[in-house]
Formats: sequence, structure tokens, C-alpha cells
Amino acid sequence: MFTLPELNYKYDELEPYIDAQTMEIHHSKHHQAYVDKLNGALEGQEVSETDLSAILADLDSLPEDKRMAVRNNGGGHWNHSMFWQVMKPGVSEFAGQISELISAQFGDLDKFKAEFESSAVGRFGSGWVWLTRNGQELKITSTPNQDNPLMDGVKESDILLCLDVWEHAYYLKYQNRRPEYVVNWWNVVDWEIVNSKLSLA
Ligand code: MN
Repeated sequence: MFTLPELNYKYDELEPYIDAQTMEIHHSKHHQAYVDKLNGALEGQEVSETDLSAILADLDSLPEDKRMAVRNNGGGHWNHSMFWQVMKPGVSEFAGQISELISAQFGDLDKFKAEFESSAVGRFGSGWVWLTRNGQELKITSTPNQDNPLMDGVKESDILLCLDVWEHAYYLKYQNRRPEYVVNWWNVVDWEIVNSKLSLA
């Protein structure tokens, strides 16, 4: 049914911004647990990876006793799969369509980052920060737990970027310093992936 995706880079390749031990535990333990529990919740049903976004966009159609498990663990699987994908080692040039849209709407990259960081730091407890689009308009939002914009009716192709702000994403290296984690995270964001999502949308 659902499986843990392989990363396009090694656990230590996002150093020094995200440490290898955090990456290993986050991917091989936390993400794996979401996959296992999602498979448990949907046991006996004919579903595959490509069905997940549609399932999350229509949780109400699930039997009530499965709904919360799928919301939390299906969300966890989908969110982390995207999170690994929007990061990469090395320098990623901020260019192309995303840079035009961000300049037009926020003025410049620093102003955009400040707004995104403020959403990340302001998320109480565990959750995610998102960059989505609605036509030419960009939107920064945040969700609690493993919720995501699919659950609020945003199309999968309009979800451009995500940041995990659960403590398990940064605590080993940054402890309580979430703002420092968020600022450092920009160094591993893959803007090319964001641009390729924009060109498909
Ligand atoms: Mn996580």
C-alpha cells in the first residue's frame, strides 16, 4: 500500500543546517511510523500512493472510526513526502517564476521570508507552514498537527512549499530555538522544485 519514499540525498547532506541524526530519526522513524499507521488504518482497502491526496481532500467520506487515524497519519505521510522533496543540499538559485511572483507580492525575498518565518514561529505547538497559490496570488498559511492545505480545499498542484515545525524536526540541534531552525532552513530550500510545481500548476 503506502511506502516510505527514499530521499534524493543522504542524511548528512543537509548539514550543517539540518543535522544527520535528526534527518535519520525524522525519516526512518517518524515518517515510517506515519506510513505504518496509515496502512493499518486503511487495511483491506484498495488504495495506492496516488489516491492519498484525494483521500485527504475528502476525509468526510471515510468511516468515522478511521477518519482521525487517516487525517493524522495520511497527513503525516503526505506532508513529509513533500517536505523531503522541497529540500536539497547545496546552493539553489532563487530565480524564475517564483522569484517574480514573490517580488510582485511581497516586494522582495527578505520580506517574504520574514512573513513565512513569523508564521512558523507563531504556530503554537506542532504543525506546518505552507506556501500555496491561488491563480497568480501566493498565500502563506499554517496548519496544526499533520493537517495540510488539501484538507482546506487547496489543489495538490497549488501547494508549492512546506516547512515542518514539529519539535522532532529540529530539537536535537536547535532545542527550543525554533526561529534559528527556520532561518537556517532557507539554506536547503530547493527553489527549482518550487518552480517546477509552478510550471505544472
Ligand atoms: Mn516531521
